Amino acid sequence: MTDPLAEFDTALNALARDHLIRRRPVVESVDGAHLRVDGEAVLAFCTNDYLGLSRHPALVDAATRGAALYGVGAGASPLVSGHSAAHEALEAELAAFVGMPRALFFGSGYVANVGLVPALVGRGDAVFSDALNHACLIDGVRLSRADAHVYPHNDVETLATLLAASTARRKLVVTDAVFSMDGDIAPIAEILRLCERHDAWLMVDDAHGFGVLGPDGRGTAAHLGVRSPRLVYMATLGKAAGSAGAFVAGPAPVVEWLMQRARSYIFATATPAMVAEALRAAVRVIRDEGWRRDHLARLIAHLRAGTAALPWDHPPSTTAIQPLLIGGNAEALAAMQALRARGLWVPAIRPPTVPDGTARLRVSLSAAHSEADVARLVAALHDVAG
Ligand SMILES: *Cc1c(COP(=O)(O)O)cnc(C)c1O
Repeated sequence: MTDPLAEFDTALNALARDHLIRRRPVVESVDGAHLRVDGEAVLAFCTNDYLGLSRHPALVDAATRGAALYGVGAGASPLVSGHSAAHEALEAELAAFVGMPRALFFGSGYVANVGLVPALVGRGDAVFSDALNHACLIDGVRLSRADAHVYPHNDVETLATLLAASTARRKLVVTDAVFSMDGDIAPIAEILRLCERHDAWLMVDDAHGFGVLGPDGRGTAAHLGVRSPRLVYMATLGKAAGSAGAFVAGPAPVVEWLMQRARSYIFATATPAMVAEALRAAVRVIRDEGWRRDHLARLIAHLRAGTAALPWDHPPSTTAIQPLLIGGNAEALAAMQALRARGLWVPAIRPPTVPDGTARLRVSLSAAHSEADVARLVAALHDVAG
């Protein structure tokens, strides 16, 4: 008789050998960027809470009032009885905020993307995907069964060639707006021009731009001033918006189609209305508290000035995502551990999240940080880099 668990033990041992085992630190309390983790105080540079909204009193109050009104569970899918007045209002407010005709609220960004791509394209269609797109876009592309063409990162020329050569009935380009592990911004205006020329659709995933970029934090499309009936805009709400969820916005018939056909929308219990209420408050705070974006911009400049002399490559990024490229998995992990020993939490990002040989420290900054927090990080990075 063979041991039924042996194959998993072998596979886990192989991960450990390649320094690819992940563990989950247990966060015991949160005070802005200052956390208690596994019994120790740490200053965190690892969250996507870019504006520091996850504990904002206006969001917490709105969630509490939402819970009193609607309870803590939606009870059913939105197409049955889970769609509350809070969800309805949130969708209208999100659409108005990003300047698009209609929006549809999803439980998370992952869930949104694996539903959206297959609702937009299917067998016989073609989808064109940036090589550095987020995993959930890649999964959405796979689920769609459309012919997938991966183009090199931000390579508009190759994309133009691929689009020109395609004879597919429907064509869809998908790209992160701000790339999650590099912090750079996709050339959306150029891509959109190509889409218009080749009758293709463009879906952008603005997980890291919504709330941070653009006038009043309206996102990367607003930041770049792009508008088109061919643009389908998706953003997550668990990052700068400080809570959880995601939405897609676009032309009314497209959004209606997504509501009718995105399986991850139809076959999932609606997000609790209390979350929708917290997010309605988040949209107001994002719009009204511009000082959070101004402060974040100062922190980004401060960090970049401080890392210029480090031995690691610090690719240009104007966003809150600031990668320091180290290369090897073991070296990136050692740097993370050395920072952790100094009370700082900066995650080491390794393959398969990033390409082989590009393991990195991913510093993410937040309006919850102070100038002193960033100065402490810069000093520790110099110390660790030796
Ligand atoms: C985080 C992220 C997602 C997933 O969003 P969740 O709400 O966390 O599920 C999707 N796309 C990108 C680019 C992301 O960074």
